[in-house]
Amino acid sequence: MGIIAAQESLFPEMELKQKEWAKLSGSHSGHCRMEIWLAANGWPREDREGASMRTMNLGTLAELAMFDKVIVFDPVANAADSIGPWWPEMGVLKDPVSGESIDCQKSEIVLRQAEVDIDGVMGHLDGVALVPHLKFKTNLPELEAEVKIEPVVLDAKTMPGLTWKRNYDGDLLENPFSREYVFQLQFYLEGLRRKGGVVVQGKNYGVPKRAALVCFNKENSKVILRFVHYDESLVAEMHERLSWGRSESEPKPDWPWQKGKPVPLRCQYCDYRQSCAGVRGATVVEAEKGAKGWVCSSLTTEGKDEQGQDGEGHQDARKADALPPEED
Ligand code: SF4
Repeated sequence: MGIIAAQESLFPEMELKQKEWAKLSGSHSGHCRMEIWLAANGWPREDREGASMRTMNLGTLAELAMFDKVIVFDPVANAADSIGPWWPEMGVLKDPVSGESIDCQKSEIVLRQAEVDIDGVMGHLDGVALVPHLKFKTNLPELEAEVKIEPVVLDAKTMPGLTWKRNYDGDLLENPFSREYVFQLQFYLEGLRRKGGVVVQGKNYGVPKRAALVCFNKENSKVILRFVHYDESLVAEMHERLSWGRSESEPKPDWPWQKGKPVPLRCQYCDYRQSCAGVRGATVVEAEKGAKGWVCSSLTTEGKDEQGQDGEGHQDARKADALPPEED
């Protein structure tokens, strides 16, 4: 059974409860400071509508099937069917940019949905791959080898073809949506570092230094990995961003708006857009005459367009391209 048919079979049971994801979590780590503040302070989050929820459910199903066996009902055969786990059948998955790879069949998945906590913000990682490395000792004439196990944090994302292509060989930090995934992985790496490493049945496999985005192309089922290494400067920025969740006063939004202009691409996909508009004294309305998207129709700073934050080191996050975001 294909992933789309499986999703249609499971959809009624897989509807996410809107309120469950309307709170601050590790997946917000790289998000706009204003969004973090709004989420932490219980501002209304717009409910996702049918198509958007279906997309989210597809991502949830693909993540389950990647690592677990999922039982679904096949209406054509009028019988139960199963999909997954795909991971052991994936062969060697490679990062097209760095060349790093994982032999999936040899890399056991552990810590499925394990919880990590950073300063009270919770996150659940998809899993950790225990990747074996064969190390040869060079004390010839006897050739000895030992197997070292490296824990690599995994996070599976489902995406349309164009987004997959962007993530295939693009700089993940250049695009605001991909950048948020990099931060989410830094959150898990930092969370496991604080826990003292990856512990499975009493055995500690050490603190992971690498994570990988498992990019699943929902149009052709192709999968690649993009590796992300633990980065102290990104972790520091992550702390600074999440700290806004504890602030009494709101931050400046990362994304400036201009009266009469479409809001920036990231804001087009933000679930807190209306709450954000309320806080910044603006109004956003849907574009007229069949044009897609949202436009800032009024700002209280009449006659003066908002300027972005300056000198806060996140201008690079604004290099948005015209592609839609991933659909995890
Ligand atoms: S609408 Fe834009 S600026 Fe406002 S919270 Fe969302 S991403 Fe940030």
